[in-house]
Amino acid sequence: MLVTVATAIRDLFFPHYCLGCAADFISTTEVICAHCKISLPETHFINSNHNTIEKIFWGRIPIEQAGALYYFNKHGVIQQLLRTLKYKNSINTGLFLGRELGKALAVSSRFKNIDAIIPLPLHPKKEYKRGYNQAMIIAQGIQEKWPLPILEKSVIRLVDTKTQTRENRVNRWENMKNIFHISNPHSLQNKHILLIDDVITTGATLEACGAAILSIPGTKLSIAAVAYTL
Ligand SMILES: [Zn+2]
Repeated sequence: MLVTVATAIRDLFFPHYCLGCAADFISTTEVICAHCKISLPETHFINSNHNTIEKIFWGRIPIEQAGALYYFNKHGVIQQLLRTLKYKNSINTGLFLGRELGKALAVSSRFKNIDAIIPLPLHPKKEYKRGYNQAMIIAQGIQEKWPLPILEKSVIRLVDTKTQTRENRVNRWENMKNIFHISNPHSLQNKHILLIDDVITTGATLEACGAAILSIPGTKLSIAAVAYTL
């Protein structure tokens, strides 16, 4: 990349630290240094059939393809980056993670039939409070490397559910059933949708949103996330 004099001067007066190892004087356009970037724990799920993420949804909803780019290790760099995106207003971090995911998806033959991207919606109240939906920022990063339409307003979230880890799957499903509403069914009809989230854990919220999308005739569903955590 061409480093201009202006950029060099800006970096000198506004030192910019790597979010992974705190190394200083990385470019202001980067969020982590080159060393941290090559050390990110990749899952290689994007190009693997029947991977761990796909197995999460087996017997729950029909998924074409699913994957997550990185493992989410406690106290690891990915956790740090996702926290920065979610709680510290760092749009650049979300765009960086989205671009990395977008690069992997764009060259994967498994995801070549996707028509449009939908970021998992936040409840409007929560989005207002945070100022943005982190899944939307990731989707925008993806779009920079893989130019697909983002259907941001086609699905809305009616209920802000808390994580219900202690409930069994049936109770959870009862609670999740009506939390999403398709506000623009025509925009989804006969399309293969890629649903995006930051982290996949139980997959319960993605399952609920995915079921709402699949209720529209002719839709197919794939899922991708930045990270996967056990
Ligand atoms: Zn670093």
